[in-house]
Amino acid sequence: MILDSATESAPRSELERWQLKKLQETLENVYVNVPFYHEAMNAAKVKPSDIASLEDLTRLPFTRKSNLRDNYPFGRSAVPLEQVVRFHASSGTRGKPTVVAYTQGDIDRWARIVARAVACAGGRPGDRFHNAYGYGLFTGGLGLHYGIEALGAAVIPVSGGNTPRQVRLIEDFRPRGISGTPSYVLNIADEMVKMGINPRDTSLEYGILGAEPWSEALRVEIEESLAIKAMDIYGLSEVIGPGVAIECIEAQNGLHIAEDHFLTEVVDPNTGEPLPYGETGELVFTSLTKEAFPVVRYRTGDIASLDPEPCVCGRTLMRMSRIKGRLDDMLIIRGVNVFPTEIEYVLLQISEIAPHYQVVVGQAGALDTLEVHCEVTPGYFAAVGSLDADHAKSNALRNRVLHMLRSELGISVGLHIHKPGVLPRSEGKAVRIVDKRSQV
Ligand SMILES: [Zn+2]
Repeated sequence: MILDSATESAPRSELERWQLKKLQETLENVYVNVPFYHEAMNAAKVKPSDIASLEDLTRLPFTRKSNLRDNYPFGRSAVPLEQVVRFHASSGTRGKPTVVAYTQGDIDRWARIVARAVACAGGRPGDRFHNAYGYGLFTGGLGLHYGIEALGAAVIPVSGGNTPRQVRLIEDFRPRGISGTPSYVLNIADEMVKMGINPRDTSLEYGILGAEPWSEALRVEIEESLAIKAMDIYGLSEVIGPGVAIECIEAQNGLHIAEDHFLTEVVDPNTGEPLPYGETGELVFTSLTKEAFPVVRYRTGDIASLDPEPCVCGRTLMRMSRIKGRLDDMLIIRGVNVFPTEIEYVLLQISEIAPHYQVVVGQAGALDTLEVHCEVTPGYFAAVGSLDADHAKSNALRNRVLHMLRSELGISVGLHIHKPGVLPRSEGKAVRIVDKRSQV
């Protein structure tokens, strides 16, 4: 269902008029109230009044994650701190966390954005919804939580972890919807099997999954194992959190961006030049309605493309492709760029291989090495009984997987096929890459 049809299905010309007006207001605001933007715009010799059309956006300087960290914790708030009602922060695994702030108005708008997103993914008022995103500084849990309530559905605020309890709650509360990272929702499905419950027989009908890049092949795996429709949701704390974009249940083909709140560009990650629709590059967002923490041309590091074509669902909001990968996660192995999602895509084509994997990057002399660890399915292991190298069937499987990985990635890789249950399971964001180079 389309919750705000006047906005979500508005003619493009009307939407663009609104975007320009809100862009100009945002720039006036940050130029006066945020020293970082004042200085950056002065350095680029551009003033808010120079921006007379949406095309003029490209005259503005980019904002990078390092700029946000430099102002830790409160340096970039555009309102007095007394007006802030909530903080969130990124995990800070690669340095200081990035702190973001929200006014009450920001929280209310965000809840409406997420309510719209949940409806777009098949949610309805009156639903019960199992929210397995982590609660806390991470935006996933509370972001979905307020949106589900704003839709008029009942949220079950489970957060991540304690997987057997997740299964029991799904059995007892009988939710229609579930949210979490794709790797964790798959973990919940596996737990159901262990507990003697058929994952296809639960009350679940739709899933809203995100916060980590995932492949189309993993979607098929999740939809088949749980007998649900699984929609991709996108967001990041620096822009607002979950709900920046979401797939519609009708098409499941690209994520509708909340364009009335976020102006979106795709640029060449190396040169920063804007790229035309359809070309793959780095996503860049400018917030249009945020009060406490507006962002101007924020470089996300996420790789995707944009599609402005109308959608069968009736929304006119532009769609972005699923995230192909994050620049932070991109591995450069002997000069070749590799995203973990490409490895996932290959592994999930192979029916004997379970959807659990880890990639270990190491070094042999001056050369980088890539080793893929995966598991066989319990069914395959029961039938074959051995993964020894001298076992003919296992050997044939190993050769087939190696061949497919090499031809997809264009580089040779090491491969370790394990028995079921060996690799660590996700309780939130899956750890797909172990980079031993950084530990040297
Ligand atoms: Zn659609």
